[in-house]
Amino acid sequence: MSNVQLKNINKIYDGNVHAVHDFNLDIADKEFIVFVGPSGCGKSTTLRMIAGLEEITTGELYIDGVLVNNVAPKDRNIAMVFQSYALYPQMTVEQNMSYSLKLHKVPKEEIKRRVEEAARVLGLTDLLKRKPKALSGGQRQRVALGRAIVRNPKVFLMDEPLSNLDAKLRVQMRSEISRIHNDVGATTIYVTHDQVEAMTMASRIVVMSAGYVQQIGTPTEIYENPDNMFVAGFIGTPPMNFIHGVVTDDGKGLRVTEEVCIPLSDEHQKILAPWKGMKVVYGIRPEHLMKVDDPKKAVFSGEVTILELLGDVLHCYIKVNGCANTLIMKTSALNRIRKGDIVAFSPNDDFACFFDEESTNRIRLGDVKQETEK
Ligand code: ADP
Repeated sequence: MSNVQLKNINKIYDGNVHAVHDFNLDIADKEFIVFVGPSGCGKSTTLRMIAGLEEITTGELYIDGVLVNNVAPKDRNIAMVFQSYALYPQMTVEQNMSYSLKLHKVPKEEIKRRVEEAARVLGLTDLLKRKPKALSGGQRQRVALGRAIVRNPKVFLMDEPLSNLDAKLRVQMRSEISRIHNDVGATTIYVTHDQVEAMTMASRIVVMSAGYVQQIGTPTEIYENPDNMFVAGFIGTPPMNFIHGVVTDDGKGLRVTEEVCIPLSDEHQKILAPWKGMKVVYGIRPEHLMKVDDPKKAVFSGEVTILELLGDVLHCYIKVNGCANTLIMKTSALNRIRKGDIVAFSPNDDFACFFDEESTNRIRLGDVKQETEK
């Protein structure tokens, strides 16, 4: 049983670099938490503060209800797996996995039992006598995981553990780590800049940008219900389309240009009623733009300028007539759309969302414009 609590955690490095701002998170036992965000957003710093490798400037960190700000890394009962697996080259897999247990003076029989159990979970039983140079990248990374598992830690911390592997191995190891997490059931915090890893592995995702937590939620919540334009644009490939416009005075449409006005559904009219005459951003995911046969019934039309065929799906980049936007439509490859085609298409209203252009925050029912500080 292990829960981890971060309360108002801040990190300010020498030179006044404020790397992490007011980080708050309650991690329940057995959760798989993924910190995701672009490079430099503070993911590793936060992880390293949890590990005790980096001092917490202000705020409190609790593991199982115990304040651990001043507890040494080795006494936190945490195991960390890094991007570079740093195995000892002269030792066998078995020796690599048992090394830290020997240092901790764990009895021999117990070491043997734990190493065999970890090797079984990781599919390394037949490789125990090999040295790292005789292993593939994926196998080495599994040994690195094994070294962590044998210690039976309260919490696993993983910092981009798959980023040195090739694309195919990464996909394999992704499901492997999820399976191991299910088997071992330990609380895990995993750092990545890869949104696919975040979406596929996490029980909850923490999206970060520039040192701030942007949103915390399950993969479905984050994808379907983003709180702001950063989260909406960061999670999902191709990214969500954003169209800037002004809510018409009668509240029935979003005026993009003289020629283009997006009609608003009854539900959206209610959401945007307090926003008449104001600048808002319309967000629609590529899979929620639909080709329409009758151009007169379509909201948009335009020329297909780029086409990406991914086998089953097609990404169509369409330069919209009457405005500067290029929108991306994701459709079945069975739709035989070609580059240069003029296509008519409309959004599936149910999935559109709106953001305040100024604050970039999501506009939900009942929200009114907040004055932002200048
Ligand atoms: P991420 O893991 O999301 O790529 P980091 O946590 O490594 O981001 O870095 C967050 C910010 O803190 C960056 O602006 C980075 O330059 C800065 N930073 C990281 N380590 C140090 C350090 N030791 N001293 C000063 N600034 C640092």
